[in-house]
Formats: sequence, structure tokens, C-alpha cells
Amino acid sequence: MSAKYDVIVVGAGVSGLLSALALSKEGKSVLILEKDNFVGGVCRSYKVQGYTVDTGPHIITRLDSGPLRVLMDRYFDLIPNFVPFGKYYLRINGQVKDFPWSLKDWMMFDLLPVEDRSLLMKSLIDIAYMVNSGRDMTRVSIKDIMPGSLSHNSVAFLDYLSYFMLGTGPENAPVSRFIDRKDYKTEKQKDENGISIPYVGKLYNMLIGGKPTDQYYPKGGIQKIVDSLMYSMPPNVKVNLDEELLSLNTEKVNGRQTEKITGITTNKGESLADSVIYSGFATDIPKLVSTPLPQRYVENLSMIEKVTSLSVWLGLDEQVFKEDASEMWVSTTRDKFHTWLIPTSNYDPLLAPMGKHLVGFAFVNPDMTSSEEMKRKATHTIFSNIPALEEHMDMIHYQELVPEKATWNMNAGFGDVTTPIDNLYCVGSDSFKRSMGLTRTSYSVIKMLDTFKADGNLPS
Ligand SMILES: Cc1cc2nc3c(=O)[nH]c(=O)nc-3n(C[C@H](O)[C@H](O)[C@H](O)COP(=O)(O)OP(=O)(O)OC[C@H]3O[C@@H](n4cnc5c(N)ncnc54)[C@H](O)[C@@H]3O)c2cc1C
Repeated sequence: MSAKYDVIVVGAGVSGLLSALALSKEGKSVLILEKDNFVGGVCRSYKVQGYTVDTGPHIITRLDSGPLRVLMDRYFDLIPNFVPFGKYYLRINGQVKDFPWSLKDWMMFDLLPVEDRSLLMKSLIDIAYMVNSGRDMTRVSIKDIMPGSLSHNSVAFLDYLSYFMLGTGPENAPVSRFIDRKDYKTEKQKDENGISIPYVGKLYNMLIGGKPTDQYYPKGGIQKIVDSLMYSMPPNVKVNLDEELLSLNTEKVNGRQTEKITGITTNKGESLADSVIYSGFATDIPKLVSTPLPQRYVENLSMIEKVTSLSVWLGLDEQVFKEDASEMWVSTTRDKFHTWLIPTSNYDPLLAPMGKHLVGFAFVNPDMTSSEEMKRKATHTIFSNIPALEEHMDMIHYQELVPEKATWNMNAGFGDVTTPIDNLYCVGSDSFKRSMGLTRTSYSVIKMLDTFKADGNLPS
């Protein structure tokens, strides 16, 4: 006879584990199944030649008041030890400056010509005007508000921001992403004109000189988040590794057109459940369900574009980067990529062997450049910008991963927490269109919990 659970969670990455933890602590019996033989998905740490590398250089944003904090406060028995992430620098053509977070900083930011800075400031004022006159900023792209006469370096700078914040170029990057507000707990506030404060929040922060102070790194590596999740799991959670979901099973709801979930089939057999939380790629759902799904739903999923990335880890025989600060390297020539450098072992020296230094570089691969070409150009970018890094190199390690399951692209599709099948919910970075990375996946879990409750599956 098939085993029966209140909830089956498919996938043991952060979004699956957060969902399982929350629902089990709300009293549900939960089975987590994971096709790999480890938990954590793309949020793990492992050893390479004595260095502890993460699955991509990570920084946790909005940790003071964002959705991950809400979930940790509510459900974690053990919270990782987070250390502040520090400053951001911009490196353009060999020159390095603080990232200009405020208008004052921006006016002094002489890595870009003063004419461009004035033009871009005017664009900011235009954005404020558009927001106040009720324009839908999700349909306005960065390219739309870019002055036509910008210098090559300024265009490269905006290109960098679009790729690293949204995984897409300025022509598809909606301005709304840049004016989102960071405080989750107060997000429902409106000002006296009825304008949603969250909507203009980031712009407001920029105008008055805000800079990110709520960004952290977990001491011990990104794995510590997954370790804390696993430590906090109550006994009513079972984890099955090496078990791959093959189909989501459904039946007709009496007297209605819709289907509801009844359980799953995996490579190991069948299990029954009242609800299923799915955290794999939403684009796979139509292949996993035998019943036909609404055409609009399937078409939207087929339009999702994912972000792929290359991370390069360098072990160095001395501490080249002295500060707890990351560097955004803007490429202004075609032979190099944009990249983001994080001196990871500055946040925890134990991640590198004694006296050595661990540095991670993140590259976005929007054009699906081939693996070998991507690695070659990325390595060239690193060593041609700072030749000393090659001289001090002790270890090099490459990772090709999917950091976001959906780009926040104006013309691409995006998934949702709810599905056309009753009691089948999706979580992960393709299910909730806000923020990025772990913050985005946490938002999706909170929305799933709210929907789960609204559907009568938990007492409200
Ligand atoms: C290079 C890189 C850099 C990043 N940088 C940051 C950062 O700086 N800040 C930040 O907040 N976030 C960052 N992220 C993103 C963050 O790590 C992810 O958003 C988060 O870990 C995704 O968690 P998830 O559970 O949604 O997905 P995943 O980790 O992908 O987990 C999904 C799990 O489901 C399993 N699965 C899928 N299909 C099936 C199936 N059919 N049967 C069984 N199991 C299945 C998979 O094996 C996987 O374990 C980065 C990620 C990468 C890769």
C-alpha cells in the first residue's frame, strides 16, 4: 500500500526545505523527496583543494527585515551567524570607486563623464514623475529611460546593472525592479496620495542617500543556511534522497471542471498526499501532469527564460583583497565579461587554508555562450584586469549553475505559486516576481503559506 502524507515537497533546495519546515511546524506530516543524493540544491558549500567553495558567490540581501528573516524568526531553531557584507566598489577600466548609492555620491562619481551623470539624474527625476502620474513601471524598460547620447562607459554600466539585478539586458529590464522597496514588514503602507510607498521606496532611498546595510554572509559558508534548516526539522518530516519525481497524480474534483492532486509517482514508487509543493523548474510541470492543463498556463510557462551563470573560484597564496567589500567589474570591451568579485574568505578566514585567500567571481551568461568559450573569456577577464591574481593563484575552480529559474524579463513568462491543479503549489525563484535569489525564494514560500491557509489547508 502507498504511504500517505499531508504534504509532499518535491526538491530539497532552500525553497523546498523552507516549505517543509514551515508546514511541518504547523503540524503537517511531510515527505521531502530529492533526486540528488544531497540536500541544498544550488545553496551548498563543498571542499576543493582545502578551500570551502559555495555553489556560486553569495550575498544575502534584505536580511534585517525581508522574507527570509520572517521565516527564520518564525520557524528556525538555530539561526546561522551572519556577518555584514560591507561596501560595494565599482571597477571600470582599472579605476575603482565606491558604488554611488546617493545623488551626492552620483554627482562625485567621476568614473563616468559629468554630462552622463546629469543626464541620468534627469532620468531619475523623470522616473519619479512617471511613478507619481501612475505609469505602470513594469512596462518601462531601462533602455526606454536611457538618454540617447550616453558615453560607451555609461551604457556598459547600465548594462551591468540590468544583467546582475535581473539577468537580462536593459531593453528587457523593467524600471520597476530598481524602485522596489526593501522593507517587507511595512510593505502594505501607502502615502497620503494613495501611492504605494514600496513602489517608490528604492528611488526614495537613492534620492536621500540610502545604502544597503542589510546584506550579510553566513559564517561557515552558504551551506550553513541549509544546515540550520535541517537542524530545525521536526520528527514529522521524512527526507528521501535519490528519489526523482516522475509524475504528479491528480483526479477530477466532484462536480467541477478542475483536477486536484492525489500524490506522486517517483523512480521508487507511489505516495499519496493531500497537497504537493513543487520546487523544481515550473517549466517541467506540463510534462509531469498527465491531465491537460489550461493553454494560457502552459504557454506562459513555455515563455519563462532562465538565467545561467559561470562562477570562478580562485584560491590565492596571499590576501590580495584586504577589505570586506565586493567589487563590480564593468566590462567596456568585447573581449571581457562583466563580473562581480566577492572576497569570500574575508567574511570567514576558515574557508581558505591558513594564510590563503578565497575569492569568487560571478558571471552571467545571457547569450548562452558555450561552456569552454565562457570559461576562457571569464579567465581572461579576471587575469587581464588584475595580473597579480594569476601570479598568486593556488587553485581555480569553475561552476556552471542556474541561479534564478526565471529572468525578470519584460517579455518573458513567469510562474506563480498557484497552479491550475487544486492543492498543487510551486515555490522557488520562478514562482514569485520580486527581488532575487534567496530573498525571492523566501517570498515565494511566504506566498505559498498564505495561499495554503486561504485554501483551508491550515487553520488561519
Ligand atoms: C551561482 C549562484 C549565485 C547565487 N548568488 C546568490 C546571491 O548572491 N544571493 C542570493 O540570495 N541568492 C543567490 N543565488 C540563488 C540562490 O542560491 C537560489 O535562489 C536558491 O538556492 C534556489 O533554491 P530553490 O530551492 O528554489 O532551487 P534549487 O536549489 O534549484 O532546488 C531545487 C531542488 O529540486 C530538486 N529537483 C528538481 N526536480 C526534481 C524532481 N523531478 N524530483 C526530485 N527532485 C527534483 C533539485 O535537484 C534541487 O535540489 C545564487 C545561485 C547561484 C547558482
